[in-house]
Amino acid sequence: MKKLVFGVLVMLVSSVMAFAKPNIVILATGGTIAGEAKSDLATTGYKAGSVGIEVLINAVPELKNLANISGEQIANIDSSNMSDEVWLTLANRINELLDRGDVDGIVITHGTDTMEETAYFLNLVVSSAKPVVLTGAMRPATAMSADGPKNLYNAVALASDKNAKNKGVMVAINDKIYPAREVSKTHTLNVETFKAPNSGEMGYIIDGKVFFYNVSLKLNSKDSPFSVKGLKSLPKVDILYTYSQDGSKVAAEAFVKAGAKGLVVAGSGAGSIHQNQKEYLIELLKSKKVAVVKSSRVGAGLVPLSDEEIKQGFISANNLNPQKARVLLMLALTKTSDPKKIAEYFDKY
Ligand code: ASP
Repeated sequence: MKKLVFGVLVMLVSSVMAFAKPNIVILATGGTIAGEAKSDLATTGYKAGSVGIEVLINAVPELKNLANISGEQIANIDSSNMSDEVWLTLANRINELLDRGDVDGIVITHGTDTMEETAYFLNLVVSSAKPVVLTGAMRPATAMSADGPKNLYNAVALASDKNAKNKGVMVAINDKIYPAREVSKTHTLNVETFKAPNSGEMGYIIDGKVFFYNVSLKLNSKDSPFSVKGLKSLPKVDILYTYSQDGSKVAAEAFVKAGAKGLVVAGSGAGSIHQNQKEYLIELLKSKKVAVVKSSRVGAGLVPLSDEEIKQGFISANNLNPQKARVLLMLALTKTSDPKKIAEYFDKY
């Protein structure tokens, strides 16, 4: 009898504990975190996006101590092949899940190559204050000292934290927390690759505990006007790179011919564009058919515009790097083609 009462008590306590834990959904998209190599010493030459979400979850049984976990496979790709299609599927699924009362947060496993772009895209189109956290790994799941399991654990810890709401989309990697707008990959292979060059990190995750220090003042998520609801595609925006002896209009012309509605120039220094290329862009702006954003290949800092450039119709990327400026321009073009309105978006988001 005593045994029976004890058993019932244990069951009651564990179901109350399960109830008290947040419900976190992990959406897997592939990347090195799901990569398999032939040797445990290999950290290059492996296939990203090889193992499925269940394998990732089962590799970290400690996740169950943090949250009630469920997983969905959205894609299983190397993130260098990321596409608008996956972005739209991911964003719609996140909004659907976060609308539900029984989902408290989302973790996305993603390749590190384009994580900063996906994170910023979601930061602008997720319409909930609930936490959305991306994570990944620099070493494949099969590697000695693989970084994926700890990163996944930290991402779930962050998504489960009561202070993680209302902070926009975040990246949890290598024990640090970064804001989606600011985070950028800065090293090809090292595990300490992510930085936020303009703002620094938001905080740390130490032994599953979350410590916040900074938040971004730029608007995001439910305070952003962008939505992907009903969208089947996104406006085409391409990036032009500036370099010495550049000055040809070939690339810009080809992009426009292929249907680009926007161009982001990765200029030199504070956004300078080679004079020959600039002449073509000034002519292009007169047609009012293509928006042109000036950003910098430097990777940090504001891009100023002269009064003349504003008159010509150029838009400043503010301090967004070219790949992030591209994301914002794509979304801005879903709303307007007026350079003044687009410039306002670049100031706010
Ligand atoms: N190429 C991989 C990817 O982005 C790299 C990584 O995940 O670290 O999918």
